[in-house]
Amino acid sequence: MSLDAHIAALTALLGDKAVVTSANDRAAYEAGARYDTGKAALVLRPASTTEVSAALAYCVAHELAVVPQAGNTGLVSGSTPDESGAQVVLSLDRMTSRFDLDLDNRSLHVDAGFRLSEINRRLEPHGLFFPIDLGADPRIGGMLATNTGGSRFLKYGDVRRNTLGLTVVLADDTGTVLDLTSSLRKNNTGVDWKQIFIGTSGAFGVVTDAVLTLERLPKQTATAFLVPASSSSVLPLLTAMEDRLGAYLSAFEGMSKDAVAAALAHVPSLRNPFQGGLIPDYVILAEISRTWAPRAGEQSLDDVLESVLADIWEASDAPLSDAFIGPPHDMWALRHALSEGVKHLGRLIAFDLSFRRGDIMAFCARMKADLPNHFSGVTVCDFGHIGDGGVHFNLVVPKDSEHWNDPTFEQRLRTFVFAVAVEEFNGSFSAEHAIGRKNQPFYNQYTPQEIKTLAAGLKSMTSPGHLGTVSFGERIIRPA
Ligand SMILES: Cc1cc2nc3c(=O)[nH]c(=O)nc-3n(C[C@H](O)[C@H](O)[C@H](O)COP(=O)(O)OP(=O)(O)OC[C@H]3O[C@@H](n4cnc5c(N)ncnc54)[C@H](O)[C@@H]3O)c2cc1C
Repeated sequence: MSLDAHIAALTALLGDKAVVTSANDRAAYEAGARYDTGKAALVLRPASTTEVSAALAYCVAHELAVVPQAGNTGLVSGSTPDESGAQVVLSLDRMTSRFDLDLDNRSLHVDAGFRLSEINRRLEPHGLFFPIDLGADPRIGGMLATNTGGSRFLKYGDVRRNTLGLTVVLADDTGTVLDLTSSLRKNNTGVDWKQIFIGTSGAFGVVTDAVLTLERLPKQTATAFLVPASSSSVLPLLTAMEDRLGAYLSAFEGMSKDAVAAALAHVPSLRNPFQGGLIPDYVILAEISRTWAPRAGEQSLDDVLESVLADIWEASDAPLSDAFIGPPHDMWALRHALSEGVKHLGRLIAFDLSFRRGDIMAFCARMKADLPNHFSGVTVCDFGHIGDGGVHFNLVVPKDSEHWNDPTFEQRLRTFVFAVAVEEFNGSFSAEHAIGRKNQPFYNQYTPQEIKTLAAGLKSMTSPGHLGTVSFGERIIRPA
């Protein structure tokens, strides 16, 4: 069947608004947030679960490969089509009708096309929020498919921990709809099927709505920039904070000097907060928060933070060499500008790694010492979620580098970094960005065959059609 015939049939099935064909209108769906621009055969924008089901059944019947897309902020080439011009992008951006808030249950049943910012804007008057915090504005479907982590994982966990249920449509002959939308927090009556669709990059089905647990918005927050005495003091500093602050501690984010300098240089709204403008080698953004308003006679959170820092400071072998408390908004603005800053420095080759917490700084130190011997001129601009073992290990190749135009360079560099991170340090090659085309070779390399075989079986049971950009074990047969 010709593309025109598919367009006519899909338009009859889903309506005009749901089928995007012009190159201009397709462009935004074809370019990723950071990498890759592909070419789609067409873009489908269904507005309901029923329409997603009809679209998937059609694509399966006609062997069309489908790439689900939500906010398109993913960083591993998971949400955009390849260059073949044969894939159909299935965007969830029109799925924004259902917003059922259950205040008693502190939960929200929401369509997969809602952006995180819009959800939190609507929840704010109720004193609630969905506690996943990051420097992008994804949609719920993509957040489930990648199991987003973010900066407050330490306190609230990831999307998986905050999801009660979901609806998913399978890429099979009939576009089967699985209603897994339980709003129960405790439910042990069988297999917890929703987990298969969280963090698996859309390979097993398209999530169309979800039931989320919500948290109370903090009414008091205090933040500080902490300068550890040395890189080996970072973990003792974290454990000292956890020891003294318990559940108050809501973030412990690490930022390297080069990453901070890049943000300050390229994001004009930021102001340099460091004395004399001198950026320390490594800075921690620590946040503490609580959900009640200040009470008469109670120490303010700034005072709590100050006294805890003084206590740590006075200990023998203090892991802290400097600290200052400042406005949370300004301090977070710097943290969230790091991604934007580093991408201006040159060609960015980013790694989303995780380690046992005690290994992060050792890994970074090891790489900073070793990389120049193998890949000269590459700058390390790391930052990360130290509290949960995650590190965005960013490598920048400057424009004047001998490696700038080397097509094999990125793959060689990735292989080198992953060999140390995964094989020596037993870390993860994808902490919170999931798989996508970018990480597919490393999934293939590091996943044991018996797990791939199991995943292939699961894939053929759930979505035997061509769904997503990732193969967890099945042989990829792309339609011509
Ligand atoms: C500046 C910046 C900062 C970031 N910081 C963080 C961070 O701190 N932590 C973090 O975890 N991530 C971070 N990210 C990455 C990204 O924002 C997350 O991975 C996000 O959850 C992706 O959601 P999305 O809606 O944009 O999904 P998309 O990019 O559209 O899709 C991501 C994947 O999910 C699949 N998918 C999309 N919708 C569905 C669906 N409805 N059903 C099934 N599969 C689907 C896609 O096929 C793709 O494989 C950051 C990104 C940027 C640009």
